[in-house]
Formats: sequence, structure tokens, C-alpha cells
Amino acid sequence: MIERFSPDGTILAMHFDTITSPDLAWQEGALCAQTGADFFFPEPGSSVREAKRICGLCPIRAACLDYALDHDERFGVWGGLSEKERLELRRTSR
Ligand code: SF4
Repeated sequence: MIERFSPDGTILAMHFDTITSPDLAWQEGALCAQTGADFFFPEPGSSVREAKRICGLCPIRAACLDYALDHDERFGVWGGLSEKERLELRRTSR
């Protein structure tokens, strides 16, 4: 997954480096831009507690989660939900 991260290591790059610029307007204010990628893309079996705590304070959490669900993001924490939680949400909301 490291190839998903841009060299500057910002969350915009970490989470959004494959999105074209008009799609990026909603993500200004992303709190994860101020942290490292390790929180949001942990090794398998590692805790996502810190990422979820940061997401809980993030003003764009809902938009972030919507984006992840709409684009079927499979890896990492988005909008405060882990990969498994997003999968479960998708399954229960059908
Ligand atoms: S909700 Fe979490 S992953 Fe999404 S932009 Fe905010 S801090 Fe980052």
C-alpha cells in the first residue's frame, strides 16, 4: 500500500492521491493530514484505535466515509470505519 502515499506524506496524498482535483474540494480540513499514514493504513492485526479517535474529531468525517463507500475503498480507515466495519455497513445497508 505504500505506493498509495505521495512523497510528502500528507493525508490528502495518503487517502486521495488517485482522485482528480475537482473531487478533492470536500477534503479540506482533513485532520489526518496532520498525522502519519501508519495510523490509517496499519499493518494487518494492528490497532486502528488512534485513527478512529482522530476521525471522531474530523469535520469531514461523513464526506470521507461517503467517498470510501461510493468508491469501494478496501484498505485503511476512512470516515472512522475500518475495512471490516465498512464491509459490514455495506452488507447491512442493502
Ligand atoms: S474522517 Fe478520518 S480518514 Fe477521513 S479525512 Fe477525517 S481524519 Fe482522515
